[in-house]
This record gives sequence, C-alpha cells and structure tokens, in this order.
Amino acid sequence: MKKNLLCAFAALTMLTACGTKQENTSETINYNFYNVEHFADLQILRYKVTDFEKLSLQQKKLVYYLTEAALYGHDIFYDQNGKYNLAISRTLEAVYTDWQGDRESADFKAMELYLKRVWFSSGIHHHYGSEKFVPGFAETFFREAVKSVDASKLPLKDGQTVEALLDEICPVMFDPSIMKMRTNQADGEDLILTSAANFYEGVTQQEAEDFYNQMKDPKDEAPISYGLNGKLVKRDGKIVEDVYKVGGLYSPAIEKIIYWLEKAQTVAETPEQEEVIKKLIEFYQTGSLKTFDDYTIAWVKDLDSQVDFVNGFTETYTDPLGMKGSWEALVNFKDMQATRRTETISSNAQWFEDHSPVDPRFKKENVKGVSAKVITAAILAGDLYPATAIGINLPNSNWVRAQHGSKSVTIGNVTDAYNKAAHGNGFNEEFVIGQAELDLINKYADTTDELHTDLHECLGHASGKLLPGVDPDALKAYGSTIEEGRADLFGLYYVANQKLVDLGLTPNLDAYKAQYYTYMMNGLMTQLVRIEPGKNIEEAHMRNRSFIAHWAYEHGKKDNVVELVKRDGKTYVQINDYEKLRDLFGELLAEVQRIKSEGDFEAARRLVEDYGVKVDPVLHQEILERYAKLNLAPYKGFLNPKYEAVTDAQGNITDVTVSYDETYPEQMLRYSREYSTLNIKR
Ligand code: ZN
Repeated sequence: MKKNLLCAFAALTMLTACGTKQENTSETINYNFYNVEHFADLQILRYKVTDFEKLSLQQKKLVYYLTEAALYGHDIFYDQNGKYNLAISRTLEAVYTDWQGDRESADFKAMELYLKRVWFSSGIHHHYGSEKFVPGFAETFFREAVKSVDASKLPLKDGQTVEALLDEICPVMFDPSIMKMRTNQADGEDLILTSAANFYEGVTQQEAEDFYNQMKDPKDEAPISYGLNGKLVKRDGKIVEDVYKVGGLYSPAIEKIIYWLEKAQTVAETPEQEEVIKKLIEFYQTGSLKTFDDYTIAWVKDLDSQVDFVNGFTETYTDPLGMKGSWEALVNFKDMQATRRTETISSNAQWFEDHSPVDPRFKKENVKGVSAKVITAAILAGDLYPATAIGINLPNSNWVRAQHGSKSVTIGNVTDAYNKAAHGNGFNEEFVIGQAELDLINKYADTTDELHTDLHECLGHASGKLLPGVDPDALKAYGSTIEEGRADLFGLYYVANQKLVDLGLTPNLDAYKAQYYTYMMNGLMTQLVRIEPGKNIEEAHMRNRSFIAHWAYEHGKKDNVVELVKRDGKTYVQINDYEKLRDLFGELLAEVQRIKSEGDFEAARRLVEDYGVKVDPVLHQEILERYAKLNLAPYKGFLNPKYEAVTDAQGNITDVTVSYDETYPEQMLRYSREYSTLNIKR
C-alpha cells in the first residue's frame, strides 16, 4: 500500500501525515537544486541521497547492484500501461534526438511537451487521472518527421515498414476514441474492454473474473495473490495466463534484473537479506506466486539490514480489476539520524505522558513510544518513478500481514525535497502576513514541522487510554478525525516545550512559533485550496486541522490571541500571543482526550461539526483565487541521481559515486537507451 501519494498540493506544509526530513542545517541551502522544471500540470524535482558516502563499500556495492536491477524494469512498466507505449515513446524519442527540422516550431515544441508527459507517465495516459493525452501537434507533421529520421532508430518489428509503424501507432496517439482511459473504473461498463492497461487481451471482464474465481478456494487461509504476475489472453479460443518470468512474458527484462540481483546477493548485509534476494530470484525464474509469498515473508523478517529494497509486481491500482501488479522498484537505506531522533522522542515517552495537560485518569501508566522508521531513497523506478509515494507499507497480502507483519516506512529525503522545493515558490510570500513570520518560517519550519510529525506519530497516537468498558468505536464516523486531532494536539502542545530544547531537538523557544503560525494559517485558510467551491471539508486530517485551528481562534477571541486581518482586500492570519495559543492547544488536548477516553460521541460530533467541516464561501473564493495566481503544478515527480562504479585495474569496484547533474530529458533518454530490453510483439 502506498500512503500519501503527495501529488496535488504537496508544496503546502502540513500535508505530510507522517514524514520526517533531514536536519535543518544553518548552511545556505541551494533551493534551485530541488526544482528542475515545470511543464503542463507537472513539476520535476530532484532529491538528494544524503549520507550515501557514509555507507560502507559493501553497502555501496549493494545499493549499486540493486539500482541496476531496479532500472532494468523500465520497459516492463511502460508495456503494462499500454501495449503501444514502448513503440510510441521510442518513435517520439527518435524524432526528438535526430530530427533535423526547426526545433523552435510550434509542432516540434508541442511534440516535445507530449513526450515529456509520456515519460512522466510511462505511457500515453495521465499517471493520475488516467485519461489519454491530446497531442498538440499535427499528425502530418509527426508522420513526416518520423519518415525523415534514420529508420534504424525506430521500433520496427521484423519486416515492418516505417509507413506500417505509423499506421499502427498514429490512430492510438491521435484518435481520441481509441484507448481513452488507461484504467476505467466507471461502473456498468466492461472495465477490461474499456481500459488501455495491458493486462488482458481478447478477454471480457466476465471471462477474466470467471477464470480467476475458478482458481480460488474460499477455505484457503493463505491464498496466493491470484493473477498478480501475468497477462490474461485468449489464444485459439482458450484463455491462458502469460506469466511474467524467465522464458515467459518480459523474459529479457527479467533476466537482466536477475543478473543484477545475483550480484547483490554476494554482498548482502545479513543472511536474512541473502535469503530475501535468493527467493526473489527464484520467483522471477519460476513465476510461482507461492514463492512470491515466501519472498515477502523473508523480506518482512529482514529488519537488521540498513539497505533495503522493493523490486517486483506490487501495486494493483492500474488494473481495473485490482489483481495485476504494476512493476516497481525502490532501493533505500535507513536514515540513521532521523531514526535516532524518533528514538530520542520515543525513549522519553513516559515523561511526555506524565507532563501532558490531560486528566490523570486518561493517562497511560506505562506508555511505549513508537519508533518511526525513516528511510533514504537511493533510486525510484517503474510505478514509483518519477511520481512517487512518500511512504510505503508492504506487503499487500492480507494473510502475510496478519501472520508475519509488514514494514511501514517514510521516505525522508523525498519529503525533504518536497519541502525544499516549496521554498521560494511564492506560496508563503502570498499567504504569510509579514516579514517577521516569513523569517521564522524560513529559519525553523522544516525542523519544527518534522518534529511535529514525529511527536504526532511516535507519541500522540500512542498516548492516553480508554476508560474501562468504553467501546473503541464509540466515536463512529468522528473517530478518525478525533484521533488525528488528538495526535496533532499532542505535537502542538509539546513542540513549544522546553523539554525539546533540553533534548537538543529544537534550537530555542522561538522555533515553535514557525509551526504555530503555519498550522493556524493552514487550518484557517490555505488548506482550503484542496476543496472545490461549495464543498465541505470531508477528509479526516483536513477536518482535524480545521477544528483545531477554528476552536483555538474562537476560544482565543476574548484575549485577542489570533486574528484574521484584512490588508488590501487579502485575509491574513495574525498571531498576537503565542504562549496563550499554546495554552489553548493544551486545553483542547485535554478535552479531546476526555472525549476519546469516555467515548463521548455527542461532544465529538459537536466539535467536528461546529469547527471542522464548514467552509466560509467568501474566504474560500479569495484563497482559491490567490492560489491560482501562483500557478503551481499540482503533480510532482523526481529525477534520480546517477550512480557510477569506480573500478581498479582488475575490474573490482573500489567505490560508487553519486551525481545529480542530468536534466530531465537526459535521464529519460539514458534510461530508454541503456535499460531497454523489450521489443514486444504488438
Ligand atoms: Zn496520525
């Protein structure tokens, strides 16, 4: 399961439900590093592999080999997303690199934009919305351009002419009625026949469902993930599964992946990790989903290795029937510094519990903090590239999770890159009231935001107890909003505490003001950019931020703690008394804990409905207009770094270097040049 696909509006602070980032150092940060380019509704960012150089040589080799294994899945994901994607992208790339005509012409520019979007999606459909891209260039231009380039660069099948290739791909690109959606979810239609995703061929939805239902045994308590690794096709009137494996579908790519996994196996950090890699290789060789389960169980048990990875057919969102795994890969290593920080917080859990403003009857006598696992991504590939999740929770098999557990991690350096890229995008400049507040935010917000998240995750959810006999589901539909609010308030109350300074987690007692300001600004105003005009706030995290901010605003009115002030027709949050605001957060924390501990449904309902749900339509309109003027891209993706092995005269690897200077087209063209394995029969 992917959590927090931070696509839309990631630039806003406060949207990272669980994210920790690198330490905020006082050195000047080059924010331009993180912003690469912006086109259509997409922004390309870059992330930094912090502390890669601190890994041992063995670990660096392991990362390097796993990285190669990750990149060799390139073609698989393109082909899964649509059967013409590889042919189309390679044809576009040939024109992009070799065409001799006017590269400033409107047609060429539009084709370049189209190609950039195809790269981002690994196909001709939007990565998120799933709708087919509309080319902004003429088909006649495209046909002439393709015919003018060296035919050896084109993805021609045996004996195919250039004209025949064009007749094959042009309707797919230019006819809006063909392959309209990658994944159609509209109820009542045949989802397979109306989806371009390349998981089925010649079969109807009914036939596919019958095929897999026949295999399933309802009494099986450890069912394999039926259909995860194969394409269902009708051949000579018979329905068969073409399994992704050595000797099966995608064999040339899988053989390369295995080649690099075998190298990785020789430098595994632990015997457990060696077993993980061995099982994965066996799975790729046999295609056996039973072996796949064995592999995921071994993976869940490997907790001691610092380097870890995902490589395979994983998430099933692209398949309209939710069975077929899209290929993805992630190589990562544990972020020791962030993990130490969460450990510091966790190991002091009892102190925080004892000193909270909550009624002692609702406190835990023995509280155990949760230590959040933070990882540093080293490479993203397939379904995780360039658009990525900021956290991962695997495996997906329910019985494996129940019997063997799962791994849940937050990708720290990716979250950090989102935040860094947001500096200077104009958002804070537009919505923050003045220079003093901006200075506070620029200086401290990255640090205090990550601390707030740590306090929320490691302590907030873990604190407090229900009174005996209280039904854990007593708050019903308000339960998750109250729970998230409780964890947020715990973090808000303590981020302003001297204890954090004493533990070396905040530099001083000014830093928390950055968190308070951005929290109030978000809860009272800026999170509304994610709400459509006329709609209420529905999502639990957004409701909780709204009820906390509005409750504090209303209850602070008599002391003028927080104001909404108007300047030149624009509304701003002004905080007049930070210490009183802290006291208000403490008061609300005590009340929310009481509601939870006593299961007081009526009080939960009133708190959420009175403060968390409704939207002031006039303010909403103003915020939407101001936000639209900033022209920020709603979807973001990441370029990978480039790894190179340094070898001695005998060819032994003596070091692995990491560099970041590729442009977006350079990286995309390199991947398709160097990691291209499939010449799929179409
Ligand atoms: Zn939470």
